[in-house]
Amino acid sequence: MKITGITPLVLGTAWRNITFLKVETDEGLVGVGECRVVNRTEAVLGYLAEAAPRYIIGSDPFEIEKLVQRMMMEDYMRAGDIVMSGIAMVEVACWDIIGKALNQPVYRLLGGAVHDRIKAYANGWYTVERTPSEFHAAALAALAKGYRALKFDPFGAGYYELERPEKVKVVGLVEAVRDAVGPDVEILIEMHGRFNPVTAVEMARELAPFKPSWVEEPVPPENLAALKKAADAIAPLGIPIATGERLHTMPEFRELFELQAADIIQVDLTHFGGILQTKKLAAWADAYYMLMAPHNVGGPVSTAAALHLAATMPNFKIQEHFNDFAEAYVKDAAPGVPPVVDGYFALPSGPGLGVTLNEDVIRAHPYRPLHFNLFAADWHKRQVARD
Ligand SMILES: [Mg+2]
Repeated sequence: MKITGITPLVLGTAWRNITFLKVETDEGLVGVGECRVVNRTEAVLGYLAEAAPRYIIGSDPFEIEKLVQRMMMEDYMRAGDIVMSGIAMVEVACWDIIGKALNQPVYRLLGGAVHDRIKAYANGWYTVERTPSEFHAAALAALAKGYRALKFDPFGAGYYELERPEKVKVVGLVEAVRDAVGPDVEILIEMHGRFNPVTAVEMARELAPFKPSWVEEPVPPENLAALKKAADAIAPLGIPIATGERLHTMPEFRELFELQAADIIQVDLTHFGGILQTKKLAAWADAYYMLMAPHNVGGPVSTAAALHLAATMPNFKIQEHFNDFAEAYVKDAAPGVPPVVDGYFALPSGPGLGVTLNEDVIRAHPYRPLHFNLFAADWHKRQVARD
């Protein structure tokens, strides 16, 4: 079997451009991949246009390892977020094609399921004013949608430090969410790499009474010694450290693992070259007793791929999901993802990824030139003005 063509389709939403990739073959089987890169959609499309004749067209979709290796190596330049996202779209589509060719769900091709359901957490649910009463109400609304774990970034536009009134405000917001959800629901604190180590540690200490299940990206992602410094001070508070969504290749995780600077790995398969690379990373993390909580800010194809992989990872912890708090047409763009019920996804179905693109929906909501800036006021409302 040979790949004969690729077609990207971009779905514009309030704050994300979701890029789908349709991969066609000479045997009539069609696979789909997806990625959502923050603010760099056209860069990924440009990369794919250049890579398609060189690597993708003419490749056998069953030879995933070879295709990914060539795309990572033969350009010579280092692979980062753009390249690893482009590769991931093709790679995931190949798994979809293989599953359809063999009439099997993708998770059955990856060693089979070790979990009979996939634990989920909600994100994107707090698109409200940054007041305790509005966060309280939004948390209750998220629980009503079936979630038993909620993640949020209460830190506004913070960068490196926070002014004293902001610190007080943050504590009030987290207190309100814990009050709303009760003691049994998990709350996960997202720092988005905002802080220097001392501020991250201070805020973790302030929030420790509300029993967060993790603190995420306490410092920017490049300096793992700084992460280790923060992690060593946060560990005595009993709060795990989660990170990894802005690391894109296997070697970028080496120092993180050797330092044992995190407890939970949040790699995003759509920015990490796809399913197989991420499966290997999970095995490597397992040797350090680290758990996998894969990042997923994508649409339905990303989510389906994440669920198939999650089912097969022995050290899987929990899966991120946004799309119960997004425009309804995001799910409609590729129906087939199981819903979250009582905090869990059911195992996804097949064959392949088990989702089908609705190109009419995508065409009705085209690319939007937008800038999602996590360091601007009110970014958390996720209503981005067009450039
Ligand atoms: Mg994050």
